Amino acid sequence: MIKLTGLIKRYPGRTVTANAVDGLDLEIPEGKLVSLLGPSGCGKTTTLRMIAGLERNDGGTIEIDGTVVSDPARRIFQGADRRPIGIVFQSYAIWPHMTVEQNVMFPLRVGKGKVAREVARQRARTALDMVGLADFATRPAPDLSGGQQQRVALARALVRQPKVLLLDEPLSNLDKGLRDRMRDEIRAVQQRLGITTVFVTHDQDEALAVSDDVIVMNHGRIVERGMPQEIYTFPREEFTARFLGVSNSVDGVVASVEEGGSVTVTTGSGPLTCVNAPQLREGEAVSVFMRPESLRLSRKDGPWKGTVEFSIYHGDCWDYHVRVGDDLLRVRVYREKVGIAHGQSVFLSPDPESAIVVPKSGADAGATGDAAGVDDAAAAPTAAKSATVSGSR
Ligand code: ATP
Repeated sequence: MIKLTGLIKRYPGRTVTANAVDGLDLEIPEGKLVSLLGPSGCGKTTTLRMIAGLERNDGGTIEIDGTVVSDPARRIFQGADRRPIGIVFQSYAIWPHMTVEQNVMFPLRVGKGKVAREVARQRARTALDMVGLADFATRPAPDLSGGQQQRVALARALVRQPKVLLLDEPLSNLDKGLRDRMRDEIRAVQQRLGITTVFVTHDQDEALAVSDDVIVMNHGRIVERGMPQEIYTFPREEFTARFLGVSNSVDGVVASVEEGGSVTVTTGSGPLTCVNAPQLREGEAVSVFMRPESLRLSRKDGPWKGTVEFSIYHGDCWDYHVRVGDDLLRVRVYREKVGIAHGQSVFLSPDPESAIVVPKSGADAGATGDAAGVDDAAAAPTAAKSATVSGSR
């Protein structure tokens, strides 16, 4: 188990209100894979490096497997070599003058926990077997492909049988196909070994695919935490919805709250009923997010009338970009092209079951404003006034 309490990191030159990591509380249960997901500069890597002991936290405590490994208030600090961790970086950090096996043996042949060469070799072989590289043991490490080198790095992180595996954007240097395979492999190994893992990424698909829990971060803080399907289907925060690429949003005001958690929202496009909208009040300003596939398009009828501005073909579907009032909404159609030309009038029916309605707070992109130097545009690349058309979903 990993437990972070009130974790703080300041870098020189920063003010007190702009901590790189700003009072983070986080528990990661034994055997789970949790990803830290967020835009560049949100503090993911700094958090990971503090867990690893590669950075010192300025405040708060870090506990790994029941032992406090860092608590500046009590002058406790164990360095990386004394923590039960294995770490994989974005760059494979493979020793080029060694064979694959020598690379993996290396952590066992240095420092206090040094073991006999033959024992190290056996354990390196076991670790290489875990990542499917047993047949490559005697190859010079540089003769491997990028994906294979990253698997060597994974084997090297696992060879000391750590309690915790820390992965810092381990897939970023790999090309798309390889990235998916390596991602699956990491998850398979992690689940087979039941090893508590922290996975840092800025890629939402990656985080959703491999995690037991996703932690969304911004400005050094946790925005929200949830299981992948929760975070994807019903993000509770506007920042999360935008960061996860929910591309359509309209602004509105809660007109009425019904029993059982549904609400009716007045929007510029027309009224909209949202089924899953707990804890909202009448008169509250909200944003309603809709995935392109949750809007039904019809030539004949529907509550919202609009005009097709353009359409994009994706192979298995079409995206129609429909102007409804001030909003430009993307509607995904998985049929043969329905033959609607640009400029034509259409009707849209939003699905009340899948509309995501969140309070419109000024804090949607993080209560700390831009103090941490993060460009909010990175999180919401094409956020327009009240409607966005962006993202991959
Ligand atoms: P990325 O995905 O780009 O790696 P991140 O979410 O991992 O981003 P961090 O690398 O943890 O973010 O950085 C958090 C903040 O701390 C950023 O504003 C960054 O500029 C700052 N920072 C990180 N390392 C240092 C450093 N050594 N000195 C000063 N500031 C730093």
